[in-house]
Parts: sequence; structure tokens; C-alpha cells
Amino acid sequence: MSELQIAGKGQSNWIVQGTRTVAGPFTSHGNAIAALPGVAARLRPVTVQPCLCCGDHFKSIGKGNRLCLSCKRDA
Ligand SMILES: [Zn+2]
Repeated sequence: MSELQIAGKGQSNWIVQGTRTVAGPFTSHGNAIAALPGVAARLRPVTVQPCLCCGDHFKSIGKGNRLCLSCKRDA
């Protein structure tokens, strides 16, 4: 998977991955930088994991994500 990069200048900035635009436009380079972690999280591969709390299977975005949405809400 390619690294995320910021393309554009002035008031038109996009987050791109290889040749694909994945987010934007942002009105400043700083806004695009601020959005990078969220975009990276959104693009991360999703795996199905059993919830540590109730055992239901849910779509996890990573090792730190081990509670299903309803258990996380009740926590
Ligand atoms: Zn659960």
C-alpha cells in the first residue's frame, strides 16, 4: 500500500495515495495534515474479530479495537 501524501497548494489540497485521491479538497495544507490520521484509519484494512466483552463478531479496524460498537457504547 502506498504512503499517503498531500497534493495541491494554496486553498486546494488533497490527500492522495499513489495516483488515487482519497480525501479533500482541504482549504489549507495544515487542514490536510490534520486530517491525515483519520484518513489513514479509514483506509486501514478491516478484519472481523470477536468482541472481548460479548463475543459477537464485528468489524475491527486494528489490534486496539476489540470491543463491538454496542459494548464500546456501554463502557
Ligand atoms: Zn460486544
